[in-house]
Amino acid sequence: MAMTALLVDGLSVRFGSFQAIDDLSLAIDYGEVRAVIGPNGAGKTTLLDVISGITRPKQGRVLFDGAHEIVGRSEAAIARAGIRRKFQKPSVFEGLSVRQHIAIGADVGFRSRLDTPALEDRVGEVLETVRLADKADALAGALSHGQKQWLEIGMVLASEPKVLMLDEPVAGLTDEETERTASLVRALKRPDRAIVVVEHDMDFVERIADRVTVLHEGRTLFEGSMDRVRADPAVVEVYLGR
Ligand code: ADP
Repeated sequence: MAMTALLVDGLSVRFGSFQAIDDLSLAIDYGEVRAVIGPNGAGKTTLLDVISGITRPKQGRVLFDGAHEIVGRSEAAIARAGIRRKFQKPSVFEGLSVRQHIAIGADVGFRSRLDTPALEDRVGEVLETVRLADKADALAGALSHGQKQWLEIGMVLASEPKVLMLDEPVAGLTDEETERTASLVRALKRPDRAIVVVEHDMDFVERIADRVTVLHEGRTLFEGSMDRVRADPAVVEVYLGR
């Protein structure tokens, strides 16, 4: 299996005269949790939008699994290939149960490849992983904000993603919920999966990330462990010192 899950090569995105991503290149490997951090407007969301097929870049390539060009493919085709994203704001179906949500997530990933008992097994596993087994029959509308975030992570997880992208997964969570989310993200790490997390909470990033990419003005300002990121004068100058 290819080591590189996502290879971003010479990527540029413009909105009118504004250069949101500027000749950006980076590689994200299978088996790692990669945090993408940086000030507002750095291009983090735009990068995830390109990888998910929402935004078409002006230039550059994104190769999935070492070989497959993503740029130009539809959102649906990219999701089917195993590149899945949890958006920042939870948008659950208030009137459906937790179990139904996970089943929908599994079905999106597997379609007819799973028979019913296998689907039930998968739903059960995911409920355990996201620690919502005791809430399986609760309506999603009755969950706390943190539980909704975990439910959405569970929906994405149920499709067995090869690349899992999480957009600010701990925004608005309590310290305890943040701690649980950190354990959850670490538990999702697998040799055949890459996890990409955009987040502003640096203590959370330190707990989950194997490597950190710092974006600034659409380019990579620094890449390395969180220890090295914290010690880098340029990163402190544009982001951490604020
Ligand atoms: P980040 O996620 O790092 O805060 P973004 O990727 O959201 O940064 O945005 C980068 C810049 O591009 C921002 O200044 C934002 O206003 C701008 N931008 C993002 N999307 C659009 C769009 N669809 N049209 C115009 N400008 C946009």
